Amino acid sequence: MIVITGPSGAGKGTLIRALLPRVHELELAVSATTRLRRDGEAEGRDYYYLSDADFARRVANGEFLEHITYVSGQRYGTLRGEVDRITGEGRIPVLELETEGALKVAEELPGVVTVFVTAPRAELERRLRERATESAGEIGERLDLAEGQLSQASLFDHVVQNDDLERALDDLVAIVGSTHTGGDR
Ligand code: 5GP
Repeated sequence: MIVITGPSGAGKGTLIRALLPRVHELELAVSATTRLRRDGEAEGRDYYYLSDADFARRVANGEFLEHITYVSGQRYGTLRGEVDRITGEGRIPVLELETEGALKVAEELPGVVTVFVTAPRAELERRLRERATESAGEIGERLDLAEGQLSQASLFDHVVQNDDLERALDDLVAIVGSTHTGGDR
């Protein structure tokens, strides 16, 4: 299993979308969230959008591999069923998680490869503002959180600098390639 983590605005989603067609064994494990769907996002492709009650019920049923409460009290989590479906089909799940969830998964599941994607702070801020999907308050909250997350980079197996998408993608492909040929962990 591959876990991609890093601060908001680092471009994790963009990198993963570019990675999947390059390595056919990989499949994105779609997370569940209680946050509202953004324009351009689709149910089942970007997230499974759940009500607070449904999310809480699934937590109580033990359906999540990990789950967290993030900016503005919204909940996010990885459904065990989603990961099991992908591995059951003989494919490798790719998870996109913030750092707390990534550390939890790495602790619980031996053999997981964690990649921390990062970008210069000014770039993180620019991308968050350009995305313009969050309110000014939320952008500030995500940037504050990013400060703490940047200091955690050394806790992960690999760090990819995403200041240049093509180079970052090549780095990621090399990491994934060395991983599933059993080389570098
Ligand atoms: P966004 O609201 O921008 O889609 O996601 C906010 C943050 O939550 C991102 O850093 C994203 O990687 C993270 N995230 C998305 N799904 C999950 C999940 O299932 N678990 C955890 N721990 N983080 C997630």
